Amino acid sequence: MSDRSPDLLTPSLRTCVGCRRTERPEVLLRVVLGTQADPDSDRETYEAVPDPRRRLPGRGAWIHRTVRCVGDAERRQGFRRGFRVRGQVDTHRLQLFVAETTDERAGDRS
Ligand SMILES: [Zn+2]
Repeated sequence: MSDRSPDLLTPSLRTCVGCRRTERPEVLLRVVLGTQADPDSDRETYEAVPDPRRRLPGRGAWIHRTVRCVGDAERRQGFRRGFRVRGQVDTHRLQLFVAETTDERAGDRS
């Protein structure tokens, strides 16, 4: 009777860094860590870069394509944890991307 437990036997689940729910990867948006030199200080700053085609190299984090989950991730420092970096991860570009492509209003694509 131990066949087919989806929780145990699905190796490909990912955790949304916003709401912390697990999903199959095709439901989630992949995000990679970008770095930008900060001219005002000597350190680099980090940026969450949307990777809808899942082609960018590097460590990825996963998130629902919703404004709410991006906001949650920001408040809970989900990207910092997901990418294992110190310091802030800027989500400006990701927020714009999600606002344009969000799943929250279903229906006008495909
Ligand atoms: Zn989520």
